[in-house]
Amino acid sequence: MNLNGKVALITGASSGIGAATALKLAAHGVKVGLAARRTDRLQQLEADIRAAGGDAITIAMDVVDQASVTAGVKKLIDTYGRIDIVHNNAGLMPISDVEALKTDEWHRMIDVNIKGVLNTTAATLPYLQRQKSGHIFNTSSIAGRKVFAGLSVYCATKFAVAAFSDGLRMEVGKKYNIRVTCIQPGAVESELFEHISDAAYREQMEGLKGQMSFLKASDIADTVLFALQAPDRVNVAELFVLPTDQP
Ligand code: NDP
Repeated sequence: MNLNGKVALITGASSGIGAATALKLAAHGVKVGLAARRTDRLQQLEADIRAAGGDAITIAMDVVDQASVTAGVKKLIDTYGRIDIVHNNAGLMPISDVEALKTDEWHRMIDVNIKGVLNTTAATLPYLQRQKSGHIFNTSSIAGRKVFAGLSVYCATKFAVAAFSDGLRMEVGKKYNIRVTCIQPGAVESELFEHISDAAYREQMEGLKGQMSFLKASDIADTVLFALQAPDRVNVAELFVLPTDQP
């Protein structure tokens, strides 16, 4: 895919992997719809992209709310007229033991990590189908391949994203010339741990930073670029990307 002039929607663009991917794609000529709830962050990112000669717009979006997603996609289409790349990346990881019964956090993870991916897919897929081209990226996790104690619900959501990605790939590849890539990062520096309410798990996760060299969010963005720049006949179906010293 020649990226210059293509249009992308990135959810969770206000920090971490989403923000890094937005910067990377914009630097390669992609017009980027920056979607998340913290619009102050998005506006700053938009300003940074424009200052560097790129093109981006801020889209206030709560991926849990289908109406918000639909309105955000409409804004992107009204501005740029098409969508070529969708990165379903918004997610959160408030982990705890199941016996703690933090059911609100379970539901929040299911809503954002699974339903959010489905909502943005539903709002964007018809455009890609009509164009008979496009590339969808879904951010799963190493926790979508391997289960960790304390991460039961998070893993369940990320396994769901991986399953959905593979099924979608089979359905839309041949029929609509749409590529689907499931991204499964290991440990990446970001704000992901900030929402862990369980003090012991928060400490445990922060402690991992002393045990391995966390990837930079831009490392994941580099792999997205690699998959995008592959010839049209190539679908990089999975990007399983780990720190070299992560077991
Ligand atoms: P961050 O916490 O830095 O980014 C999460 C993003 O998700 C933010 O931009 C946040 O934006 C957005 N988000 C959360 N809830 C919503 C919502 N309801 N609607 C719209 N956007 C929302 O973490 P990462 O960059 O690390 O996370 C990105 C993805 O990568 C997640 O899916 C995560 O599970 C996955 N991942 C991360 C790993 C890591 O080690 N960091 C490893 C493997 C996977 P806002 O709050 O402004 O809405």
